[in-house]
Amino acid sequence: MRTYRNFIGGEWVTHSSGTTLQTLNPADTREVVAEYALAERPDAAAAVASARAAFPAWAELTPVARGRILSKASQVLETRRSELAELLTREEGKTLAESTAEVQRTVDIFRFFGGLSYTLGGQTIPHDLPRQLLYTTRQPLGVVGLITPWNFPFAIPAWKLAPALVAGNAVVLKPSSLAPALALELARALAEAGLPNGVLNVVVGQGATVGEELTDNPAVAAVSFTGSHAVGHGMYQRLALRLARVQLEMGGKNPTLVLADADLNLAVGLVLRAAFGLTGQACTATSRVIVERPVLEAFTTKLVERTRALRVGNGLHPGVAMGPAVSQAQLVSDLDAVDVAQAEGARLLCGGQRLTEGDFARGHFLQPAVLADVNPSMRIAREEVFGPVLAVIPAGDFEEAISLANGVDTGLAASVVTRDLKKAMLFAEKIEVGVVKINQISTGLALQAPFGGVKQSSTDTFREQGAQAVDFYSRLRTVYLDYSV
Ligand code: NAD
Repeated sequence: MRTYRNFIGGEWVTHSSGTTLQTLNPADTREVVAEYALAERPDAAAAVASARAAFPAWAELTPVARGRILSKASQVLETRRSELAELLTREEGKTLAESTAEVQRTVDIFRFFGGLSYTLGGQTIPHDLPRQLLYTTRQPLGVVGLITPWNFPFAIPAWKLAPALVAGNAVVLKPSSLAPALALELARALAEAGLPNGVLNVVVGQGATVGEELTDNPAVAAVSFTGSHAVGHGMYQRLALRLARVQLEMGGKNPTLVLADADLNLAVGLVLRAAFGLTGQACTATSRVIVERPVLEAFTTKLVERTRALRVGNGLHPGVAMGPAVSQAQLVSDLDAVDVAQAEGARLLCGGQRLTEGDFARGHFLQPAVLADVNPSMRIAREEVFGPVLAVIPAGDFEEAISLANGVDTGLAASVVTRDLKKAMLFAEKIEVGVVKINQISTGLALQAPFGGVKQSSTDTFREQGAQAVDFYSRLRTVYLDYSV
């Protein structure tokens, strides 16, 4: 078992409450993965004060000097790849292959923003009069609060932290208390890379205490949040009251459209990975597959056959394709979604049961579920499950498929499987989401490209990831200089 304290002012410090929090391995709850000092509001306030004190000197450095520290942190993390991937699987449950990919992504995010530091400048704008210099510079915001979920407990903190730091902000990061280890490991790597004390602070605590302190503390200039709509909605209102800058990225009900001309083997393979990879616990996971009627039966038969063959188990074991749900609460919520769907008239084609035999009894395992006869008014067609539960929805033609896909409140990612270039391009034009995939899985993002949702999935103001991520963490200052005088 690992033990962690909070990271405040460059020190691993104890906390005001004296209470501890333990995380259990979701594949085998007999294993305590780590024990944490559970922070309360005063600890979060101390972290904000520490960031505030560290901010001016950090902001004085050039972006390149800050970027060098990020590049060095990338190297530090790279040397610890396998250890960190194993820790991630033990605490969150995803398979070792999925954790290894997440660790590599985190290494690459720091490398990317380290390199990007050389390009972080403003713009020169031609003035209407001669001998005038008109230009913009990028200014950091001050202290920013980052609040993150459990499902990518390494990559999401990293994709917020790296642009925040390179832009010159000081940070207080609050990871999800279901899987905080990797956020604290980021702090360790950055400290080893030479990050000055207080520039990054990591506090492990509940949303209602530590999260609300970051939301309400007037010294926090901006908050970037990834998580559920219910929590994000509440935060948005509190942050609006004090006019703080805010970025919220939340859930989706992501569709994959399978058109009548699609290569069905390709379509089944893509849907299987997008729906059940990461145990369906990805914000971009496919949770609705909308299938044109001529191929509905052939597609569904193949899909059910391949779903039944998926090997569920402990993510550390070789050959396992899908790990457990992250927690007992998530497992219960997944199983409830299957029950409600059936009560509303959907037909369960496979899975949807808790696995309890042998080693399964010690973890939060369920068999991935496919539901048919789903109509758009059912909850399973509208509400995020965040688990391995897939709804199959028939469509009469391409136009109806698009209208079904757009007929929900959220709009994060969507995919289409087709050989018809025109329909693929029309899909890219008409679909109401932030990320469009053509003949690809709905999950999986290039770290160098912007990411974010539309509709209720996002505040839809600033994008995360890619070079554009820095926009949220900086503001432009406009400078006028007259050298005609
Ligand atoms: P959650 O909303 O329960 O928690 C997210 C974070 O908010 C946690 O750190 C939590 O402690 C904190 N929090 C809770 N209450 C708070 C409060 N009152 N004030 C401030 N902070 C508070 O979400 P979760 O269960 O950790 O994550 C799953 C959700 O995240 C899903 O809805 C998923 O779609 C979404 N998600 C979205 C993206 C994206 O980029 N769009 C990526 C991953 C996950």
